[in-house]
Amino acid sequence: MRLFPHVCFSCRKSFKKPMRALARLCPQCGGPMVMLSRKFSAPKMTDVDQWRKVEYLVSHGFRFQSIHEQPSGTLVQYPATLAAAKLFVERYTGQVG
Ligand SMILES: [Zn+2]
Repeated sequence: MRLFPHVCFSCRKSFKKPMRALARLCPQCGGPMVMLSRKFSAPKMTDVDQWRKVEYLVSHGFRFQSIHEQPSGTLVQYPATLAAAKLFVERYTGQVG
């Protein structure tokens, strides 16, 4: 069974779980979790800036799925910082399903 990272932004934790239609709740705080692409790797719990960046990306529809440069098809790297994430969202919104 394929497992996907499910993240809780309140706890800043990622849990690997099978996909399911109904939203999963965080085993720690009971809050909602968001399922991300398997390419996502979670920052350390203490790395608040990185978690803010992830939350920003997810709130704009970027769940670490592959993004390709148009029209070249080159795979786009996800941004390393929140500042870079803002530019990334501006540039690639409309290219995610
Ligand atoms: Zn939680």
